[in-house]
Amino acid sequence: MPTFVYMTRCDGCGHCVDICPSDIMHIDKTYRRAYNIEPNMCWECYSCVKACPQNAIDARGYADFAPLGHSVRALREEAKGTISWRLKFRDGREKNFVSPIRTTPWGSLKGPGEYAAPRPEDFARQELAHEPDSLNIKGGLPALRPDQLKQGVV
Ligand code: SF4
Ligand code: SF4
Repeated sequence: MPTFVYMTRCDGCGHCVDICPSDIMHIDKTYRRAYNIEPNMCWECYSCVKACPQNAIDARGYADFAPLGHSVRALREEAKGTISWRLKFRDGREKNFVSPIRTTPWGSLKGPGEYAAPRPEDFARQELAHEPDSLNIKGGLPALRPDQLKQGVV
């Protein structure tokens, strides 16, 4: 679901430009308002939606997620510690979802250079380097056991 900007709400602050990892949020030179220059290249990370202080950015919902014509609004409310999603359908129905903001303290993540170099045997494993420890999962990544497979293991 790529994003788009309501230019009438945008004040051109540039937060979305700074945060976009795909570098596709730009400020229109004439109107001094933000716009998504290439929706096809949108990561759909919604960093821009959550960072926008004017609540000026909406997501275009896919038909399987929000059919029948709709609007999708994401609202980050830091004071409440929530992100809420509001889907409004063409027939007037609304669906609202609220989830807590998950925050990671600035500077608390280890950089790649702070981990030990992978051992030779690590290259033969399916996990990425330092998994599952880097994901804070104890005892290995969750995986299906052979007895959970309907067809069995061939
Ligand atoms: Fe950029 Fe992410 Fe916003 Fe897409 S959703 S425009 S990738 S910040
Ligand atoms: Fe406009 Fe919001 Fe982007 Fe600021 S963060 S430039 S208000 S769309």
